[in-house]
Amino acid sequence: MVDSEDLFIDLAESLLGDDVVSVLRLLLEEGVEMTDDEIASKLNMKVNDVRKRLYSLSEQGFVVSRRTREKEKGWYIYFWKPNLDHINEILMERKRQILNKLQSRLEYESSNTFYICSRDMNRYSFEEAFENEFKCPRCGTPLEYYDSDKVKQFLSEKIKAIEKEINEETKNGTQDS
Ligand SMILES: [Zn+2]
Repeated sequence: MVDSEDLFIDLAESLLGDDVVSVLRLLLEEGVEMTDDEIASKLNMKVNDVRKRLYSLSEQGFVVSRRTREKEKGWYIYFWKPNLDHINEILMERKRQILNKLQSRLEYESSNTFYICSRDMNRYSFEEAFENEFKCPRCGTPLEYYDSDKVKQFLSEKIKAIEKEINEETKNGTQDS
């Protein structure tokens, strides 16, 4: 869970600035619902500043709140917690993106033949190599056939691992709901 929480915080930081980080991190660490007062005193911040951060976090779906009416005074108290479903959605989305990239990379590797310059290690497709008469366009060294089996194997293994993760998480998701 640590990785996904870090990712969640990074994303919040990149969208909302580093102001929100301490509030979000505290909520993740405490693992219980907290009021703005509690957050403010834990972080030694003004309640108004905490509220501003909570509102911008909730607008972007990073935190959710539940409100109850305070019986005597009649006002509402909000209890805040991190939006864990959103963490999982973000993670799954991220994984699907990576999976897509790896798959199209593997397809590219599988459907092309490559040549490499042994001097500067630049790699060229068959078309590029052919156009340059199988000499490196940068330094003129004769190009050699590049065996991409290792690359393909590496990509295949990565793809399998991510597919497995996605499948397992999808299964867990259905069990939970
Ligand atoms: Zn070269």
